[in-house]
Amino acid sequence: MGTVVGVDLGGTNVLAAAVSSDGEATDHIKETTPTGGPDEVIELLVEMVTSIDDSPAAVGVGFPGPVSQGVVIEAPNLAGWTEPVKLAKRMAKRLKAPVTLGNDANVGTLGEARHGAGAGAVNALGCWMGTGIGGGLIIDGRLFEGQSGTAGELGHVPVEMTSPRRCGCGRWGCVEAYAGRASMRAMVDRLIAEGGSSEMVEIMEDKGKTRFTSSVWKKALKNGDEVATAIMDEAVIALGIALAGMINTLDLDTLIFGGGLAEKLGQDHVDRIEEVTLPRLMAPDVKRRWVVASLGDDSGVVGAAELARAAEQAV
Ligand SMILES: [Zn+2]
Repeated sequence: MGTVVGVDLGGTNVLAAAVSSDGEATDHIKETTPTGGPDEVIELLVEMVTSIDDSPAAVGVGFPGPVSQGVVIEAPNLAGWTEPVKLAKRMAKRLKAPVTLGNDANVGTLGEARHGAGAGAVNALGCWMGTGIGGGLIIDGRLFEGQSGTAGELGHVPVEMTSPRRCGCGRWGCVEAYAGRASMRAMVDRLIAEGGSSEMVEIMEDKGKTRFTSSVWKKALKNGDEVATAIMDEAVIALGIALAGMINTLDLDTLIFGGGLAEKLGQDHVDRIEEVTLPRLMAPDVKRRWVVASLGDDSGVVGAAELARAAEQAV
């Protein structure tokens, strides 16, 4: 097989690279994500791919939103995308190469489960902790997307029966409403307004940030910030409960944690989540790996390329 190119399209940046069959990414290119809608984005992606190889064997694209069978269903993080877009087909026509499209959390999970911290996983779940909580599911060594592409949506697993909290997706009681950074920020503001003690805003300003980034959380937790600690404790419990449900359903062997918060807070944070999960498991003594993602910014391009390779091999 010739060059397989992986593309990781994010809300802010696009990363593309050539990826070998053993998951090594080379010839990286990084560009700012265009804000003028699908035509502009497709133009840039085609340009980036052809500058890596003008005749690629296959191309995989990770997209920040729901996708199904090569079509972008919705693009909540991209400006100017108002209706479904046949992204794979349009890129394939321009590139004269097969193009496979996957959701970003799904391809990140595939990358980590094949070539990163979860290498060797058979049944794995990826948990991506950022503004929201992304999830991806690997079953029998392959990405499992379900009939609508929403399999493995860990962030929207409900975790509460009574007085649940509203999630960014509009539903109630999802784990993301407790553990996603956007929801956690809203909770910090609420607790401070209610008189809670917190220096998170000061920490944010000291760091020259305008948002509660993962590093702001890390500092606040390290300082023993009262509000930050209370909210993170709740997030850990919500995640642990949701994961227990997934593990009891699927008997997973590997749990992979990626995204800003996982990378900043590291293995200790993952261990805390595991502690919440264990007493809730049908088979708590079975060996399972709980790991922090290790490919960094490459998990998306490596996973996207892996998805493209798998699609070609299935033909
Ligand atoms: Zn939700």
